[in-house]
Amino acid sequence: MSVVRDEAVEAFLLALPKVENHLHLDGALSPLTVQRLAERVDGSPLKGLSLDEIKRRVVVSKPREALAEVLAAFDAFYPLLKSAPAVELAAYEAAREAQRQGIMYHELRFAPVLQETENFSAREVLKAVLRGAEHGRKDFGVDFGLIICLLRPFSVISREKNELMCALAIDFAGRGVVGLDVADVGAGDEALSSYSKWLGAGRAAGLGLTAHAGEAPRGRELEDALELGVNRIGHGVQFRNRPELVAEAKRQGVTIEANLTSNVLTGAVKSYKDHPVRAWFDADVKVSLSTDDPGVFGIDLVHEYRLLWKELAFAPRELVKVARAGVDSLSCRRRARRRCSRSSTGARRAPWRRSSYSASSSGAGKASSSLSVGSGGGASPGTIKVAVLMP
Ligand SMILES: [Zn+2]
Repeated sequence: MSVVRDEAVEAFLLALPKVENHLHLDGALSPLTVQRLAERVDGSPLKGLSLDEIKRRVVVSKPREALAEVLAAFDAFYPLLKSAPAVELAAYEAAREAQRQGIMYHELRFAPVLQETENFSAREVLKAVLRGAEHGRKDFGVDFGLIICLLRPFSVISREKNELMCALAIDFAGRGVVGLDVADVGAGDEALSSYSKWLGAGRAAGLGLTAHAGEAPRGRELEDALELGVNRIGHGVQFRNRPELVAEAKRQGVTIEANLTSNVLTGAVKSYKDHPVRAWFDADVKVSLSTDDPGVFGIDLVHEYRLLWKELAFAPRELVKVARAGVDSLSCRRRARRRCSRSSTGARRAPWRRSSYSASSSGAGKASSSLSVGSGGGASPGTIKVAVLMP
């Protein structure tokens, strides 16, 4: 077994063509962007604060005892996100940040009803995110798809609001929206199965489906998610105690969206070494890697890959496999199909140029990977070749 130089792997992690499939638009706000937004909002308690002071308020860097405490950290900056320019900037800055890390495509998720106001409708929120993401694609070359988050529980976000968001997602399917998610905004035990009608409608419209499930021990979330036929499951930490459900996820070809730092900081796992991602990977379940809320947790995707390598003993070749699982899990193929073929009749016969991702390692000690993501109607495909010498 060869000893791999740290700097070689660091270069590999940065250059590895990556995608991110579990990224919340609001949770991606960096302290610098929060500072910029605060300067524009009269009466904001964050206005005039130094960057260090803002970091202290909006970045969670030590483990919290409950998910609710982390959600509370969002309250500090949420009032800043209630206008079209602010939402647009958030999506634009996410693309800038993605480019810096070698991320070629990301699926940004958000719930437009959380930004809406009397004068800023959920539809306008969605359109502002689209403008920002499109602008980011032009300037930074990062392709994107949007995922609309339905929200639990109904006691916080009503059925009517969820119905509205589902209708919006379907309306914009093939026009930037690629998926539907079910996420949480507060304590409550609304069953995932209560969302089956909307998820079914999304599937019928060609949207990919994902759901936050099994982040903490709570009801039948994982069973429900698998019965609903989602393509991906966000977090899934509770799979660790349920080998029969892991086997079912594998049988269905479900991808688990692993979020290591998020799970440690919310207390879902005790430590990185305690995270079940290694066991899932070894069981040959599809596992992708994301940050969840990189701004709030003060991390980036390279940081998460570094954790797989350093804390969980993933070899570079295994890191490539995780990156490839992310590509394979994307909903963009569905979007691209619709984008290519949208017509007045709704026919969907246009060909989809498949994404490809290949990795190889030669006997001369060289590992390489390349990625080509074609959006089939959006930006032209990009290809990056990486060659890192493994001494
Ligand atoms: Zn999440």
